[in-house]
Amino acid sequence: MERTFAMIKPDGVRRGLTPEILSRIARKGYRVVGLKQMVIPRETAETHYGEHRERPFFGELVDFITGGPVVAIALEGENAIAGWRAMMGATNPANAAPGTIRADFATTTGENVMHGSDSPESAERELGLFFQPSELL
Ligand code: ATP
Ligand code: MG
Repeated sequence: MERTFAMIKPDGVRRGLTPEILSRIARKGYRVVGLKQMVIPRETAETHYGEHRERPFFGELVDFITGGPVVAIALEGENAIAGWRAMMGATNPANAAPGTIRADFATTTGENVMHGSDSPESAERELGLFFQPSELL
């Protein structure tokens, strides 16, 4: 069984999409092993998106992700890392396949509703950044 880190970004929370996203997770059959609404500390956001530190949009990205509450989710399921990325759709919603979260609920790359770990290494790192081991049940 594989674990991944998913996050409803501030635009998704602000727009009241949390129940819709949690419903999709349940219908897919993933198990929620950790769940919390939180405002991400700036330092945590900079670590989380560290791979993008040199990109021109980094400052905006960190401002956005720390600008309101997010919902951090630890998911468990068969092939959950790639499976959750598939359910989210492409980074740019214009390229996201119909029926994916980003195609259905987002219009811009900057505010694209969801995050999902992109590899086993990222999943382990991100789960450790957002959850204490005792919070994963
Ligand atoms: P995430 O890591 O948030 O799940 P992703 O893995 O699909 O998304 P990344 O390439 O890791 O995409 O980019 C991280 C986030 O940075 C994107 O989700 C998006 O919000 C933002 N981003 C990426 N590229 C751009 C861009 N060209 N302009 C503005 N924001 C961008
Ligand atoms: Mg990414």
